[in-house]
Amino acid sequence: MSNNKDFDLFRTSDDHEELRAAVRAVAQDKIAPHAAEADELAAFPKASYDALVASDFHAPHIGEAYGGVGADALATCIVIEEVARVCAASSLIPAVNKLGTMPLILAASDEIKAKYLPPVARGEAMFAYGLSEREAGSDTASMKCRAKADGDGWVLNGQKSWITNAGVSSFYTVLAVTDPQGKRGSNVSAFVVEKSDPGFTFGDLERKMGIKGSPTRELIFEGCRIPGDRMVGAPGEGLKIALATLDHTRVTIGAQAVGIAQGALDFALGYVKERSQFGKHIAQFQGIQFMLADMAMKLEAARQLVYVAAAKSERGDKDLSFFGAAAKCFASDVAMAVTTDAVQLLGGAGYVKDYPVERMMRDAKITQIYEGTNQIQRIVMARQLLKK
Ligand SMILES: Cc1cc2nc3c(=O)[nH]c(=O)nc-3n(C[C@H](O)[C@H](O)[C@H](O)COP(=O)(O)OP(=O)(O)OC[C@H]3O[C@@H](n4cnc5c(N)ncnc54)[C@H](O)[C@@H]3O)c2cc1C
Repeated sequence: MSNNKDFDLFRTSDDHEELRAAVRAVAQDKIAPHAAEADELAAFPKASYDALVASDFHAPHIGEAYGGVGADALATCIVIEEVARVCAASSLIPAVNKLGTMPLILAASDEIKAKYLPPVARGEAMFAYGLSEREAGSDTASMKCRAKADGDGWVLNGQKSWITNAGVSSFYTVLAVTDPQGKRGSNVSAFVVEKSDPGFTFGDLERKMGIKGSPTRELIFEGCRIPGDRMVGAPGEGLKIALATLDHTRVTIGAQAVGIAQGALDFALGYVKERSQFGKHIAQFQGIQFMLADMAMKLEAARQLVYVAAAKSERGDKDLSFFGAAAKCFASDVAMAVTTDAVQLLGGAGYVKDYPVERMMRDAKITQIYEGTNQIQRIVMARQLLKK
């Protein structure tokens, strides 16, 4: 074995592991205590938000030029993973701040970036992302929300469905058709809409299976007038920007899935060492040990794929689409399997709300659905494979 430091290549850096320890401390002390209550009351975890802002973990991806801490894509994933390990709903604070602002980071003018990124970096505002519509979920290009040029501004009409952190966010990236006669996929533009813009309101809170602390609502635009300088990128480029955003942010959903699964595995490991049946700790049964080994094996494979995808996101590698989709798809399937097994390992105790694995299993499900269902991830992967 060589002592050459170059052989340390395939591992996270000391800085990344120090960051993990710092986030874990905040998550354990300030976020975990409120996780069950946020779920039970379906209430936005304000205490988590305040703790994340106080420690600069609420929007870590924003660059120093805009007042952020400039965490790289892997560091951002580690933040999301560690928060999700104790509270999936809270992990959507850094995750969706990245989702909402990524279109700006990728494509907006300096003026738009200078106006909207610093308040998010300071923790004064959150940023949400409005792509999906009631009749246009997987098929995003069939969206109906319309932005019409009107004098020196734009007027928006239509709706967006299932928007994470709607209502609690001050700013929204909204995708709307600007050229109804134009080519499908090239007739959409991206805009920043502010919560206070006239004609912009929200639907009722969705009543969800999981991530209940994260508010999900419709965005409703009824003659919503916005100034002309709110377009992100060029006219007609909106859908491309929205999909390029997802290439990067699907990796963060992979990280969220890894965190949820790790939280469930950690809890189950503690439980099986305490619980006795047939005169011994259930951890001593080989049937239980094999389950634990499979859970940990799948989880580690998911984590490695997410971290490689994060490195690709940071570098902007050409195969990011494949890796972003693969990381999200694989990690979310693992999260569903691992949390389901964690419930199984706790037996009846796993099925009741006295223990967190019940919540974690419900929370895991959404990672297979949002930012594109896992069927859509497979389409994205196959498309990239067949292009070669
Ligand atoms: C809690 C929550 C939060 C969300 N947050 C946001 C957000 O912040 N911003 C946002 O824009 N959206 C958000 N979404 C929307 C989410 O991204 C969509 O729900 C998702 O993309 C699926 O769209 P759909 O629900 O219309 O399902 P559909 O597109 O109707 O799909 C139904 C089923 O058909 C399958 N399917 C569809 N097309 C194909 C195909 N070509 N081949 C094979 N199978 C196919 C799907 O995989 C799925 O199983 C959120 C959703 C939820 C539930």
